[in-house]
Amino acid sequence: MERESLEMDVVFIGAGPANLSGALYLTQLIEKAKAEGKDLGEIQIAVIEKGASVGAHTLSGAVMDPKGLAELMPDFIEKGAPIESEVKEDRFLFLTSTRAFRSPVNPPPLNNHGYYIVSLNRLTAWLGDQCEAAGVNIFPEFPGAELLYDESERVIGVRTGDKGIDKEGKQKSNYEPGVDLLAKVTVLGEGVRGSLTKKLIQRLGLDDGREPQVYSLGVKELWELPDDRYPAGRVTHTLGFPSDQWTYGGGWIYGMQNRVLNLGYVTGLDYRDPLIDPHAEFQKFKSHPFVAKLLEGGKMIRYGAKAIAAGGWHAMPQMYADGVLIVGDSAGFLNAARLKGIHSAIKSGMLAAETIFDALLERDYSARTLQEFEHRVKRSWITPELRRYRNFHAGFRHGRWLGIVNAGLQYITGGRAWGLLDRDHQEAGHEAMKKLSAFGYRDAETNLRYQGVKFDGKLTFNKVTDVYHAAVAHDEDQPVHLHVLDTNVCATRCAEEYGNPCQRFCPAAVYEMVDSEPRRVGVASRHSPRLSEPPAVAGGHSPRLSEPPAVAGGHSPRRELQINFSNCVHCKTCDIMDPYQIINWVTPEGGGGPDYKGM
Ligand SMILES: Cc1cc2nc3c(=O)[nH]c(=O)nc-3n(C[C@H](O)[C@H](O)[C@H](O)COP(=O)(O)OP(=O)(O)OC[C@H]3O[C@@H](n4cnc5c(N)ncnc54)[C@H](O)[C@@H]3O)c2cc1C
Repeated sequence: MERESLEMDVVFIGAGPANLSGALYLTQLIEKAKAEGKDLGEIQIAVIEKGASVGAHTLSGAVMDPKGLAELMPDFIEKGAPIESEVKEDRFLFLTSTRAFRSPVNPPPLNNHGYYIVSLNRLTAWLGDQCEAAGVNIFPEFPGAELLYDESERVIGVRTGDKGIDKEGKQKSNYEPGVDLLAKVTVLGEGVRGSLTKKLIQRLGLDDGREPQVYSLGVKELWELPDDRYPAGRVTHTLGFPSDQWTYGGGWIYGMQNRVLNLGYVTGLDYRDPLIDPHAEFQKFKSHPFVAKLLEGGKMIRYGAKAIAAGGWHAMPQMYADGVLIVGDSAGFLNAARLKGIHSAIKSGMLAAETIFDALLERDYSARTLQEFEHRVKRSWITPELRRYRNFHAGFRHGRWLGIVNAGLQYITGGRAWGLLDRDHQEAGHEAMKKLSAFGYRDAETNLRYQGVKFDGKLTFNKVTDVYHAAVAHDEDQPVHLHVLDTNVCATRCAEEYGNPCQRFCPAAVYEMVDSEPRRVGVASRHSPRLSEPPAVAGGHSPRLSEPPAVAGGHSPRRELQINFSNCVHCKTCDIMDPYQIINWVTPEGGGGPDYKGM
């Protein structure tokens, strides 16, 4: 099989704010150098993106601190950057199960004065246009499937995913092998829990001596409201209901243009109770009287979910190696206390561009030159910001109230507080999950956490209905991109110990334990077709999920895992939260996945 090789100078993997800013800034530096008479020759820059278009897989809140974008492009407003609204009002609420108490002061990290509410999907697409206009080659529908190394472990580029492979792994008539994009420097800006970044970090031990990254999951909907009850520019953050005090979490409600309300809920992916379902937590959040009243008479129009890297400073890996840099969420640049990562993703991309520019001048792409990236990060405004909140998330390991006290102390002491009290710090999120027996649950069917949530199709939706509103599309006839490495665990150990939590932590109903009789096939071999129209929602049941099998004579029929991979919204939660760490998320065929228009 002939595989095409393309020689580039710099390849950016992932068209998110970090990499697009990096690519754009690099073109600016090269132009400036040319104007000063320095001749670098023709520099070829490529950005590859797994989504069908730039921004298709971009999901965020988002309130953007403009500091990063303003450095990249001081006249971003004049240049037409899509901004929903300036932030005009900040509110912070504590929710009990029935009431909402407004805090007289906004917690400083959530003070959004001077910031902008944006749809990151639109902003990213716009940044992509700026890159193309500056001569960057952008390749949507090109997932990075594998990093390429030379014999001395130097990264020399990326192999993109093959197209036209059927579910049995055979070539179809439209088969096209992936391309080898060779580069002097490869930049990983895959966003949270990047599939190539994960492998690179493991292979080169880039996280040696660092704390494990911890994550949250943000689940979000857009609603069209019938009137102006919630103005564009109003920002509300909430704490409390529905999270229990051992679960890190909180809600957001942002007013966008045209009476669109953007709301979501973040659940820490280091929760203890295996019966927690982050999607159901969000549905419960909406059923709070304060939120339900806001949504009355409105219509849900979009849905999405994505993980957030919340570990902060202590969890950042080494961000360089020979021939490669790691930027944005892939390196954990997000500030969890502020729920903000766009500004630092942009800045990290720019600092990577400066480093690459120097490497191009010196013609040295080794770690020796590329390590300057970390020094630049340390000298930039990113470091004081992240160091100030470096122990923020760790405080919540000891419950909500100590977490809040710690957050306050963090702010006052410049981040020292928790570090003084507890050097033991964070464990990986999946290790925090306890077994069913620790909570006295007999099995997962005794889940009473969400019994009040009706999934009525008006205010609250089941996962299948929501997934329809994420406009997810994957070709059905392709290999499953969610690799379960040991399928024997599912029906036995995992069922007994955790009640198959993948069915709950996945916000897209990808994982389903089904009765395997009479068919006996390997796990990961059965797929459900993608929904083509909104499912009818009745009686609180997802139409895509099979009914639990009848239990006769006290014996459970044999069960197996069914992977509805076509539902996958690429949030990466399964890869993160599986208690046995046997789910490996890899890129599906290019162009597959959600389409987060306006999110
Ligand atoms: C629910 C939620 C709410 C948030 N709210 C806010 C907020 O209010 N304010 C704020 O500042 N930040 C917020 N953030 C964080 C912010 O969205 C991120 O910090 C920011 O998007 C990071 O940019 P990035 O370029 O590193 O990654 P991303 O924006 O994730 O972009 C990565 C891109 O790489 C692509 N990709 C991944 N792997 C591959 C591959 N192997 N091959 C090809 N392409 C690939 C992806 O499809 C994606 O397009 C929020 C995040 C979430 C999830």
